[in-house]
Amino acid sequence: MRVGVRMALLVGGLSVGVMSLAAWRVPAALPDGGPTPRHDPPAAAALRFVDASQLMHEVAILASPQMEGRATGTPGGLRARRWITDRFAEIGLAPLDAAGHVRPFVVQQREVRAILPGGRPFRRAVEGANVVGRVAGREPGAAAIVVTAHYDHLGVRDGRVYPGADDNASGVAVLLAAARHFVARPPRRTLIVAALDAEELGLHGARALLRSPGMARDAIALNINLDMLSRSAAREIYAAGAYHTPWLAPILGELQPRGAVTLLLGHDRPPRLGGGLEDWTHESDHAPFHDAHVPFVYFGVEDHPDYHRPTDTAGRIDPAFFGAVADMVIDAIQAFDARLQ
Ligand SMILES: [Zn+2]
Repeated sequence: MRVGVRMALLVGGLSVGVMSLAAWRVPAALPDGGPTPRHDPPAAAALRFVDASQLMHEVAILASPQMEGRATGTPGGLRARRWITDRFAEIGLAPLDAAGHVRPFVVQQREVRAILPGGRPFRRAVEGANVVGRVAGREPGAAAIVVTAHYDHLGVRDGRVYPGADDNASGVAVLLAAARHFVARPPRRTLIVAALDAEELGLHGARALLRSPGMARDAIALNINLDMLSRSAAREIYAAGAYHTPWLAPILGELQPRGAVTLLLGHDRPPRLGGGLEDWTHESDHAPFHDAHVPFVYFGVEDHPDYHRPTDTAGRIDPAFFGAVADMVIDAIQAFDARLQ
C-alpha cells in the first residue's frame, strides 16, 4: 500500500512541475570524488544479480487468481504464506530460532457494523503471520540488515480479485532474489529476510517483527523496505530515508552509475520542504523501524493508475524496468553491507 497517497492527485496539473523540483537526483560521484561522470543508463542493460524471467514468474504466481488477492487471514493469504515459506526452505534461509520461518501474530481490528446497536465499534481478531529467515553474517557480532517486503494485499472485494502484482508481489519477488544472492555469497552483517503480513491493515507485520526476540533496536543497523518496484513510465525508482539519515545519501550515490534506472531521493520529508511531494515516511513497513529510531531506506515507485485496483496485474509490469530495479536493490544491500560502520 501506501495509505496517504492521494495527495498528489489534489495538485492535479501542477504535480508534474512540483515533482521536478522536489525529487533529488542522486549525485553520480561521491562527495570527495572528482568531476561528476556523465551517466546515460543503457536501455536494456544486462542484469548482474537477478534473473528477470524468474522474478516475473514469481510475481505471476503471487498475483494469480488462486492467491485471491492475499488478504490477511484468508485462504488466499494462507496459500501465499505457504508458497513463500516453501521458497525460504528451498533457498536455504535459516529460521531465526527453533520456532521456524512462520511467525504468527494477531491483529485486533476495529470494525463498525450497522447491525450492532448504535453502530458501536467492535473488535475482530485477524490471524496474520510473517515469514522470516536469516543469512548468518561473517561478523556475528555486527548489527543486522533487515530486508522487508509485505506479501498481503486487499483480497477479494465485491467479487473481484485485487491481484496486487506491483503492490507488493514485486517486492516479495525481489526479496526472494536477494535471499538467493546472499545465501550464495554470505554478507558481512547478518541479513534478516522478512516477508511481512497485514501491512494493508496498518503495518501490523512490521510491528510484530520488531517485537520478536533478537530484534532489539541495537541489534538492527538498517531496514531496507521494498514495496511497489515493478513499473514506472519514467523509469524512476525512489529511495526514501536519507532525509532522516543523511549518511545514507553518499552510499545510495554509488548505485546510480552502475544502474539502468533513474534513482531519485525524496518522498521522506514534510511536503513544505519537499516542494509539495508527498512524505512517505509513514506509508509502508519501514515506518515502525523509523519510529524505533532504526535508519531505513524505502524503495518504491510513484503511484500508477492501477494502484489498489483489480487491474494491478502481472501483465502490466515492465519486466526490463523491474529487473533493473531488482538489480539495483541487491547492489544497494551489498553497498550498505560493505559500508555501514
Ligand atoms: Zn504495498
